[in-house]
Amino acid sequence: MAMPKLFLYNTLTRKKEEFKPIYDGMVGLYTCGPTVYNYAHLGNLRTYIFEDILKRVLFYDGYKVRHVMNITDVGHLTGDMDMGEDKLEVEAKREGKTAWEIAEFYTQAFKNDIKKLNILEPEEWCKATDNIQEQIDLVKKLEEQGYTYKTSDGIYFDTSKFKDYTKLSHLDLEKLKEGARVERNPEKENPTDFALWKFSPKGEKRQMEWDSPWGIGFPGWHIECSAMSMKYLGKHLDIHCGGIDHINVHHTNEIAQSEAATGEKFFNYWAHGAFLNIAGGKKMAKSEENFLTVENALEKKGINPLVYRFAALQVHYRKPMEYGEDAMRTAQNGLEHLYNKVRELGNEKGKIDEEFKDEFLKAINDDLNMPRALAVVQEVLKSNLANEDKRATILDFDAVLGLGFVDAVIGVELPAEIKSLVEKREQARREKNFQESDRLRKEIESRGYILEDTKEGVRVVKR
Ligand code: AMP
Ligand code: ZN
Repeated sequence: MAMPKLFLYNTLTRKKEEFKPIYDGMVGLYTCGPTVYNYAHLGNLRTYIFEDILKRVLFYDGYKVRHVMNITDVGHLTGDMDMGEDKLEVEAKREGKTAWEIAEFYTQAFKNDIKKLNILEPEEWCKATDNIQEQIDLVKKLEEQGYTYKTSDGIYFDTSKFKDYTKLSHLDLEKLKEGARVERNPEKENPTDFALWKFSPKGEKRQMEWDSPWGIGFPGWHIECSAMSMKYLGKHLDIHCGGIDHINVHHTNEIAQSEAATGEKFFNYWAHGAFLNIAGGKKMAKSEENFLTVENALEKKGINPLVYRFAALQVHYRKPMEYGEDAMRTAQNGLEHLYNKVRELGNEKGKIDEEFKDEFLKAINDDLNMPRALAVVQEVLKSNLANEDKRATILDFDAVLGLGFVDAVIGVELPAEIKSLVEKREQARREKNFQESDRLRKEIESRGYILEDTKEGVRVVKR
């Protein structure tokens, strides 16, 4: 059977284009992963949900997908322009732990969060600190080809030597030069130049540092994604994703250093997700106070994390999404309603309706139009198909939606020990022993189940 045509908006060309893989039926997908000095916030997770939808659409269309995600555990500095301290080392000092412990802790926290949001794990996780030699080799290659220069604090990439530096960002470099008067690093030759390798500060021993041909130090932030995507996927690749904040600097620099080193086109398609904002249009950011996590914004309020996924699917990934508690409650009711509707369809096995499936395919392949895809689910429910066929069709769509219909709706028979923990927690709550009920909730969660306190009472779903 022929694969459906997938149309994707490509930031490189600023157009919706038909996706054509380099190798038939296979896709190399690279998504920039988290910097693990803190929990991921709901904004970060919006981007990972969008990328997960893309991956699930590719699977649904019949592609084999090799997805690589990096973990940034070194080199991401607090300041712009390659200045400031390493975010991980700052957090390590604050928490009285080592940078390695910080990285390990928040990597695990990130993996737990994405699991709760039904985000599929990449085929390959890779850590920046596990790939230092690959990064050094890439910098050496750039040095041999004359793209680098040395300053007192590191080795820099000379962006004036790479023609087409602005092909992704479409930035006006002349304007940037005017702005360069406020540039804080006077040793840089061009305002857009960026660090490939940074030296450890003189007289200071960093927790994470390595020897290199240029001196002891650590890699610049951008080089890891180039080195690791090429290591795991090859020189010329299919789709690279991230949030829109990565377009002008991080992804632009990835393209410059990769294409300068290999002489080949780096990625054919660049897909970027818009921000999650809080009321008033302000971006949610780790450095801001509006820092909402799966735990504090959802679970502690008795909201199943999949409610957030459901809310995210209701906004097209290239449009800004606004976070608000009311919106979350509305989404909670909406998802609950949907679960009930599907539950009412019974348990008979039916067959997938091909006409609705075509509609669904058209929606998801039109630049991941998930609001439309959700509308198709409603149309199925309202249609005059037999209940079992509605059920089969919607469960099939869930391979892309990832809303957990199979577990939440069809219901899994709870193991006896979970049932007993749930009952004990109910008892603790009746006795207003909230410390104990919290402890039991955590214990239930650690065994792979999520508790939802709904209007009708407590519900337990498998993660
Ligand atoms: P970071 O951990 O800061 O490297 O960011 C991880 C991912 O989250 C990147 O792809 C960012 O582009 C993305 N991101 C950061 N803030 C937001 C936001 N408010 N909304 C959506 N995506 C975001
Ligand atoms: Zn990256």
